[in-house]
Amino acid sequence: MNFHQASADCFIPDASPLPGALSRTTHLAIGAHQDDLEFFAYHGIAHCYGKKDAWFSGITCTDGAGSSRSGAYADVGDSEMQAIRAEEQRRAATLGEYGSIIQLGYPSAEIKDSNNTHIIEDLSTVLSIARPEVVYLHNPADKHDTHVAVLLRSLRALRSLPADQRPKQAWGCEIWRDLDWLIDQDKGLLPTTAHPELQASLNQVFESQIQGGKRYDLAVMGRRLAHATFLDSHHSDTETGFTFAMDLTPLVHDNHLDIVDFTLSYAERLKTDIELRLNKFR
Ligand SMILES: [Zn+2]
Repeated sequence: MNFHQASADCFIPDASPLPGALSRTTHLAIGAHQDDLEFFAYHGIAHCYGKKDAWFSGITCTDGAGSSRSGAYADVGDSEMQAIRAEEQRRAATLGEYGSIIQLGYPSAEIKDSNNTHIIEDLSTVLSIARPEVVYLHNPADKHDTHVAVLLRSLRALRSLPADQRPKQAWGCEIWRDLDWLIDQDKGLLPTTAHPELQASLNQVFESQIQGGKRYDLAVMGRRLAHATFLDSHHSDTETGFTFAMDLTPLVHDNHLDIVDFTLSYAERLKTDIELRLNKFR
């Protein structure tokens, strides 16, 4: 496969040949940074883990150059850090038995540039071979600029596919700004209970980020647990964790649906929910 960035990397953990290694994909996640996929698409990773008829593939779009660093990584330069993070991502793919992991190697600034279509072309190349049934994306209310830009480029790529090749289900998942604010009817519930040891080890792979002074490994697990506990006040917990997601399937299937209007409609329903509850008891 040809990609625009010279540093682009396609890693197949079980060394299956292309294109079969990619076309076996059933669940695909597209994220901005090394570690995003493991934090937001664990549901898909766990679903495919150990199966021969379901395969998870991941696409990480950025080169990992801009991460914060301290401790053992304080003096590591940008190019060395990129190599370390790419290797961490490959190690996660091996641990999680992914079908493939593709690292496109873009600087964040290129992804944020809406005139640059290279990233869309690369994503389309992968999507047209992988043809996933389910995709996991960043959600449009995320507060990280690069995450939002990656989502917008992903949506363009998905909408460029013929209608019958588009995924049946598209989830917009939480990382920067969680999705507890969605009203319950709008919450996409992605259980993360399965394979707890795998879950912990996948989060811990990204040592360079954790050592950089951010305990993502603990925070992600804390969020998943909190979601399971606070989801419903009247019933006992049946799952040990959830990732919350927005159902983005309508956006993927209708090229004319506006993403701003679509996203703000969720905020409108939250506003109405708050208003109705307050008015009910005052
Ligand atoms: Zn990220």
